[in-house]
Amino acid sequence: MAMASSLICSTPIPTKFITKQNPLSNHSSNPIFPKLTKQPLRNLVVLSTAAIEAETQKSGTAKTPSKSLPFRVGHGFDLHRLEPGYPLIIGGINIPHDRGCEAHSDGDVLLHCVVDAILGALGLPDIGQIFPDTDPKWKGAPSSVFMEEAVRLMHEAGYELGNLDATLILQRPKVSPHKEAIRANLCKLLGADPSVVNLKAKTHEKVDSLGENRSIAAHTVVLLMKK
Ligand SMILES: [Zn+2]
Repeated sequence: MAMASSLICSTPIPTKFITKQNPLSNHSSNPIFPKLTKQPLRNLVVLSTAAIEAETQKSGTAKTPSKSLPFRVGHGFDLHRLEPGYPLIIGGINIPHDRGCEAHSDGDVLLHCVVDAILGALGLPDIGQIFPDTDPKWKGAPSSVFMEEAVRLMHEAGYELGNLDATLILQRPKVSPHKEAIRANLCKLLGADPSVVNLKAKTHEKVDSLGENRSIAAHTVVLLMKK
């Protein structure tokens, strides 16, 4: 998304997000994070996990159907406008180019959509809701902080990465010389083996903003597996 979610992220989540807007309130029925409301995120997650276990013990049954899901799939998409005068950061790697992403954070289209894919698999709101770009404290923030939080939430929910497949779409510059560096950094941020992290890149056939070097986009699909 041109990002009403120009990305932001933090730990912990701003209080105003929790108390006032509370976009997570729509997810109070989330089977993974049933109590994901009204409290700072870290406590929330801890409480939610405890709540699930308490409920399981109380009922004496196995787990809820949702909790026992062995796999969860998530999809992420992001797009940023390219403008002269900004660095082009992809997957945490600074790629030499005549323009980059104008965004609230570092505009890392790949990390943003990977985060969204993980959050989506967990049934959580998107990155723009969890890390609102209205908070100046995240201006220019490296997107690795969003990744760290998404990975933490994934483990907190009892899941680990099965595999990830990402596709970058940009006309220029060529990604191939940087592909392995990007993938290696992605693996590091995810704490994942390279064999389960795949990265592809393609042009947009010179049409539309993507093909005219005016924007960059990425798609990501992740499969999470119950630990
Ligand atoms: Zn973004």
